[in-house]
Amino acid sequence: MELESKIPPGPVERKWQYAKSHYKLVNPENKRKYDIIVVGAGLAGASAAASLGELGYNVKCFVFHDSPRRAHSIAAQGGINAAKNYQNDGDSIYRLFYDTVKGGDYRAREGNVYRLAELSVNIIDQAVAQGVPLAREYGGLLENRSFGGVQVARTFYARGQTGQQLLLGAFQALERQIDRGRVTMFPRFEMLDLVVVDGQARGIITRNMVTGAIEPHPADAVVIGSGGYANVFYLSTNPRTRRRPTGPRSGARTGVERTSPIPASRRFTRPASPRRATISRS
Ligand SMILES: Cc1cc2nc3c(=O)[nH]c(=O)nc-3n(C[C@H](O)[C@H](O)[C@H](O)COP(=O)(O)OP(=O)(O)OC[C@H]3O[C@@H](n4cnc5c(N)ncnc54)[C@H](O)[C@@H]3O)c2cc1C
Repeated sequence: MELESKIPPGPVERKWQYAKSHYKLVNPENKRKYDIIVVGAGLAGASAAASLGELGYNVKCFVFHDSPRRAHSIAAQGGINAAKNYQNDGDSIYRLFYDTVKGGDYRAREGNVYRLAELSVNIIDQAVAQGVPLAREYGGLLENRSFGGVQVARTFYARGQTGQQLLLGAFQALERQIDRGRVTMFPRFEMLDLVVVDGQARGIITRNMVTGAIEPHPADAVVIGSGGYANVFYLSTNPRTRRRPTGPRSGARTGVERTSPIPASRRFTRPASPRRATISRS
């Protein structure tokens, strides 16, 4: 199997700028003719669904959680790094790019990391516009701290709750589009497979986690914002909303049998919640 990440050609600092300037555009009047599926409503999925809805596309957003606010993004604490150089300590987009590639043990895709560093500047403005209460200095300017062992102070944060506050901002933007009818939510739907037609993603197969029904959902494009692959790790802060069997665990996503290194007597198993049985989609 070939993994083709389709990073645009050219020098690293111009790859995405070039691609953005040369992509085919969709006329504003035609956007409502396209159905887009977004899988996930964490920071990635909720922002994508809200932005696509705002642009005028018909968006369907699928999450296996009972609410977008259950997404794991709520766990993020430290803050967001952005190369705004507010502290005038020599920061730049290139330095953030370099630090991020280094922090990723030189394994990240450099073209995409450069894009992340470029967009970091806009993300802060977007979060502030959404009302995210990022920390401020006494005079009212946005506060920065130095985080992650870097030589500059470029981290924007909201106490120890950055992810929670960002998710509230993204969730409100998503709620607005749901209210406008641009985004339809499908909570408690788990994506099982991607439908690919002639090399293009054309829909997904889901399991309704309340009824168990397996259903196809066609679309013109699919955006996957389903978070990291944390469930491959035995010990993870990522919650699964389904009850897992005790004893040797089967990796539901990987198909790989996993055996717990912790004796059964010391393992925490979540008691069955009476509330869960009553949750409906309405
Ligand atoms: C403790 C902790 C601290 C962190 N601190 C920071 C920090 O300080 N700064 C920072 O930048 N990053 C931090 N991170 C990382 C950051 O939180 C994550 O990278 C980011 O929140 C991931 O967002 P996401 O939207 O991609 O995924 P998630 O928030 O995990 O959302 C995934 C979504 O996909 C849905 N989903 C998943 N699979 C399926 C499926 N099969 N079918 C349907 N829906 C599905 C889920 O329901 C959920 O809505 C931290 C992470 C942790 C765990």
